[in-house]
Amino acid sequence: MIRYGQQDITQADIDSVVSVLKSVNLTQGPNIPLFEQSVLDHTYAKHAVAVNSATSALHISCLALGLGPGDRLWTTPNTFVASANCALYCGAQVDFVDIDPRTYNLCPLALEAKLIEAEKVGCLPKVVIPVHLAGQPCDMAVIHALGQRYGFKIIEDASHAIGGKYKGEPIGNGRYSDITVFSFHPVKIITTAEGGMALTNSAELATRLDLLRSHGITRDPALMTEPMHGPWYYQQVVLGFNYRMTDMQAALGVSQMTRLTDYVKRRHTIAQRYNELLADLPLTLPWHHPDSYSAYHLYVVRLQLDKISATHRQVFEALRAKDILVNLHYIPVHTQPYYQQMGFKQGDYPQAEQYYREAISIPMHVNLTDPELQFVASCLREAMGL
Ligand SMILES: *Cc1c(COP(=O)(O)O)cnc(C)c1O
Repeated sequence: MIRYGQQDITQADIDSVVSVLKSVNLTQGPNIPLFEQSVLDHTYAKHAVAVNSATSALHISCLALGLGPGDRLWTTPNTFVASANCALYCGAQVDFVDIDPRTYNLCPLALEAKLIEAEKVGCLPKVVIPVHLAGQPCDMAVIHALGQRYGFKIIEDASHAIGGKYKGEPIGNGRYSDITVFSFHPVKIITTAEGGMALTNSAELATRLDLLRSHGITRDPALMTEPMHGPWYYQQVVLGFNYRMTDMQAALGVSQMTRLTDYVKRRHTIAQRYNELLADLPLTLPWHHPDSYSAYHLYVVRLQLDKISATHRQVFEALRAKDILVNLHYIPVHTQPYYQQMGFKQGDYPQAEQYYREAISIPMHVNLTDPELQFVASCLREAMGL
């Protein structure tokens, strides 16, 4: 069986986790700040808050930016539902901006057009969440400039993109956004089993994120409304959650981070190989903007359906029948029944819908061997009836 994505766990990873199990702190231990620091060292951001998932990180990032009832959040329809659900958790409204047909990321031109219309009717977004699909960064300089002009905040959903670069600088450095979120789910670039992180250069946002991750409770006298009653004292100053990461997860994260650069290099090597193996097939292969160095979470091919007799579904099922666990990223969020109930309709975002009819994520992870890549390529050829 060849999975579309899979974690890489070494003996060093296992030893790190076991050493936490033998220590006194299973949670809230020394590995949390170590993991946060290792991600800061890689990205050059100023503050990092580790949490139990990227979904949690997106939720508290929205709250930290003051998103609430009456506000609007815009994101791409071509993403995992969590990028949109975070607005609904806060009582805000969601809307979408269609994708660029070359990068499959939120299209800055479509964003600008929608902002012009929204300004006329006084319903501009408070937050925009660009998602770096497959690990390729969005056109952040343009999105940031629009943010300055129309007054919205930006959360980068970089769940696919740790280890990637934009204009030669690491994704997560916050040059073009308020907060960046990473996911450490096992299919992503590095893993902590479940886990996520929010990065920011704002000390104020970092303080809020930190409070929200743990019940809104503080032990910092500077954040309290009255002097400490004694050494036991803490105050709850806002309504927060239990979104903490465990020390076992953080230890795994610290160990995985040591291999991040090698992982992304390996993913590029695999992508190069696929580019060669698939070059003569009626497929649209990943296209990269010259400003981007993708983390290559996914390798997405688009079937040129007018050139083959098989359907998208037939190709997909033929690969699954060979135990190649291909996947599809993503079902456009606005077509989900929950979103249709809110009034979104099929046809609202034609580029994302067209992509959905043609896209297949073929296996991409660091332990794929060359024979496996050749097998995937030959099965794909066969599945397309060639
Ligand atoms: C995986 C993913 C998430 C959610 O990450 P979790 O850590 O599983 O909560 C959010 N957005 C995108 C784009 C993702 O791929």
